[in-house]
Amino acid sequence: MCGGLGNGTLDHYLPKDDYPEYSFFSKNLVPACSCNSLRRKAVKGVVSPSRAIHPYFDDFLSDRLYQAVFKGQFDTPGISIEIIDGNHPQKDILRYHLDEVISNDGTQGWFEKYWSSLSDRPHDMLELVLPCGPQNLTGSELKAALNRYRNSKDKEYQTPNNWYSIFYTGLMSDNDRLDQLATKINQLRQPIT
Ligand SMILES: [Zn+2]
Repeated sequence: MCGGLGNGTLDHYLPKDDYPEYSFFSKNLVPACSCNSLRRKAVKGVVSPSRAIHPYFDDFLSDRLYQAVFKGQFDTPGISIEIIDGNHPQKDILRYHLDEVISNDGTQGWFEKYWSSLSDRPHDMLELVLPCGPQNLTGSELKAALNRYRNSKDKEYQTPNNWYSIFYTGLMSDNDRLDQLATKINQLRQPIT
């Protein structure tokens, strides 16, 4: 439901307290983590058609819908998740799903922690992703490597809206931050003398 990486449980799309008749209806049981209990009973907004995305019925979930946006300094940026296409035909649903399901402390914590690890030791985190060193890596070479990595995460999780894909899609559109990250990788890859 939120794009998180643990999906070990099934939970109710229509909350069972309000819709007990659907408690055991298979299409009402969707893969989710704690995000689903965090949304409590939110299913639809005040104004139609805003509602949560349904993973079995909403075919636009195969589109890339969300990306991370990084603002501010390199070490501790502000990170938010935003809708990629503000003119998407389902933009009201995307907004509702972002506000009510995706955006919560668990999601925010994962993005901040992941950036913290990545910015601290990118050469280790991306060892299998980067072209073999130790030659100098440019920002555009880093972007090409991250693009392949992001696409592999789309396939691994069978959705372009998993947290890794959201994270790297946003990072790839931030050329300044990519350049800084490439510089850091080059420094850290220097052999210790
Ligand atoms: Zn979740």
